Amino acid sequence: MRIVLLGPPGAGKGTYASRLTMILGVPHISTGDMVREEIKAETELGKAIKGYSDKGELVPDKIITKLLAKRLGGPDSERGFILDGFPRTIKQAEALNRISRIDLVINLNVPDEVIIQRLSNRLVCRKCGVIYNKLTLKPKRDGVCDKCGGALYQREDDTPEVIQDRLDVYRKKTELLIDYYKEKNLLRNVRCDDLMIPPEVIIEKIMMIISSVQDTSRA
Ligand code: ADP
Repeated sequence: MRIVLLGPPGAGKGTYASRLTMILGVPHISTGDMVREEIKAETELGKAIKGYSDKGELVPDKIITKLLAKRLGGPDSERGFILDGFPRTIKQAEALNRISRIDLVINLNVPDEVIIQRLSNRLVCRKCGVIYNKLTLKPKRDGVCDKCGGALYQREDDTPEVIQDRLDVYRKKTELLIDYYKEKNLLRNVRCDDLMIPPEVIIEKIMMIISSVQDTSRA
């Protein structure tokens, strides 16, 4: 299954994708993680894109598409993937069409209040990338990852001003993709309008959609 997760920043794409990866046995490909890795490793590319990421702006389509194409060309993506954070613009969606077939686009519907609450309380493990939340998904020990013992940190773009900028970028550029994929008959909506809904409940809804799509493609 080749799945795209669509939704505003803070919709839970990363959290759901990492769980779906375990259930489905296909890789979670996050362009946001790829961008942060390049920046952390201080590669030439990382230096060129840091400014965009810090401000919550999109990295130019050409650069990000090249990065993604390289990743999707790898052997682990042959059986499928869960794409998180790409495409973000119509140009990127068109480029993705040329790179790979897509079977399903899950659109996570989340109101702004939930997003702001979630992102301003989000913590990420520096070592393994698992996501926690100070309100809803607390680690067992403060500041320490349950899974690997790594240190938890707050992302630099998870500050109130940058969150608002990321939301504005989403509304202006990425929301257009909802209609784009609706027209292609690939879009399915999943609502999540309460901060306290546990990830398992959303995962269950997503898995039901995936099964129904698998059944239709077999029929
Ligand atoms: P968010 O939590 O806002 O969804 P991500 O972790 O997906 O953020 O991405 C972090 C940053 O990386 C973005 O603000 C942007 O600068 C860059 N980025 C990630 N994916 C893309 C993409 N598909 N196109 C352009 N820029 C991207």
